[in-house]
Amino acid sequence: MGVGVENGEVLMNLLANVLLDPGRASPEKSAITTVDGHHVTYADLERLSARLAGLLVREYAIDKGDRVAVQSMKQWHLLALSIACARIGAIYLPLNTAYTDRETLVLLDDATPSLIVRESPIEHHTARVRLGELITRAQAHPSDFSDVACDEMTPAAMLYTSGTTGRAKGAVLTHGNLVSNSLALNAAWGFTPDDVVLHALPLFHTHGLFVGAFCALSSGASLILMESFSAREVVRHLSSATVFMGVPTYYVRLLEEPEFTREVARPLRLFTSGSAPMLRSTHEEFISRTGHEIVERYGMTETGINTSNPIDGSLRMGTVGRALAGVDVRVRGASPGAIEVKGPNVFVDYWNRPELRESEFTPDGWFKTGDVGTLDEDGFLEIVGRAKDVIITGGLNVYPKELELVIDTFAGVLESAVIGLADADFGEAVTAVVVPHKDARLDEVELGKLARASFAAFKVPKRFIIVDELPRNAMGKVEKARLRSELSVPPGS
Ligand code: AMP
Repeated sequence: MGVGVENGEVLMNLLANVLLDPGRASPEKSAITTVDGHHVTYADLERLSARLAGLLVREYAIDKGDRVAVQSMKQWHLLALSIACARIGAIYLPLNTAYTDRETLVLLDDATPSLIVRESPIEHHTARVRLGELITRAQAHPSDFSDVACDEMTPAAMLYTSGTTGRAKGAVLTHGNLVSNSLALNAAWGFTPDDVVLHALPLFHTHGLFVGAFCALSSGASLILMESFSAREVVRHLSSATVFMGVPTYYVRLLEEPEFTREVARPLRLFTSGSAPMLRSTHEEFISRTGHEIVERYGMTETGINTSNPIDGSLRMGTVGRALAGVDVRVRGASPGAIEVKGPNVFVDYWNRPELRESEFTPDGWFKTGDVGTLDEDGFLEIVGRAKDVIITGGLNVYPKELELVIDTFAGVLESAVIGLADADFGEAVTAVVVPHKDARLDEVELGKLARASFAAFKVPKRFIIVDELPRNAMGKVEKARLRSELSVPPGS
């Protein structure tokens, strides 16, 4: 029902209401279509979420604030399960299915969930159930549920940051964080119930779950849910959609498909990209192939989306756009400087790590994103990299992206990653890791010459390393920490 009653006072469940209310206007409308042709109406989604909420409360004693860990292959039932958790006031904890058992155990020890929904057994004291079994048993529970009252500050979800080094941190996101971000995005991207989102992203990450799926549901739109990304499958279903959201790698793969044509992309009104920087060459090729621009936006686990390019044709390529309504973004120190954000989208704490509040936030309450960028006079933000990726060579700062953008234009270069490697003389030596175009042959001496003609001497890479491809994580981010550790020469050798 979306409302609870406490001491005679009617209280709402903020997130459940925002996700379910738009669909209540047309319960028989398709909320989700799977690529194998299964239609899930808004009424189906609401009923299954109620049954699951009933099951979780009555049979698993899940209470407000309890964590429900979910490590499952992508399927539409996960959306019902995440809504069920919201309705109870439980904390939905999606875990990447690529984690090994060892990695998963560390997170289970940290999050101490009351239940893990997962196919295979794992040696941990947490109770485990298969998603299929949960769905079957849910059928014995009523199709309505009196939602537990939850306000802006009630935790709704917890996501471990995908940091490639150091101890994983669970960012706790509240009902207020998720709702404010969905509504701000719906407004910025002009979502209506007529939209159909082709959804190829994973559901264990902010991008796929809170941006892709929650934006669609909170605007009463429809989702076409793909189990995973495949360029060929996207091409097959694209013409039925109005919106496609991707990480840059998806766009690179789509452009490799000869059948990805202007005709296929014609019905869409919006393509978005984020989670990692997109190459200008990818964007330009996309425009010339399809006639559509890609709206780049900037977000992170801890904050959801902070900025987006406008959708009215005035986007600025190479930037991630302007702050969303209600979100404040600033760049501190000399430009490029540290990007900090404040707003109802910003998480409150890392799970069990209160000490990080002090180090990760400024005294006046801004979250330190760890990204470095510039903000122009019209408020467009450009990201130049992660603070920890800035190279300090001979005492001077070198911003990798500035070099990468230029190196990517050298003949025969497909893409590059610029990193700092430990160096006895310079502290860090600027190093360019370069991927050639399919049929191109690159020559380190030639690349060095081009670099010397393009950059101040202190920025010129000391070495060019030619590789077949750059290491990337599931969201398409280049793993610079991995490159640094793989390419650094142990001291003394
Ligand atoms: P995650 O928390 O895993 O979503 O990673 C967030 C990080 O991804 C941000 O702090 C940025 O470094 C990076 N990121 C997200 N969107 C973009 C974008 N559009 N361009 C460049 N980097 C991005």
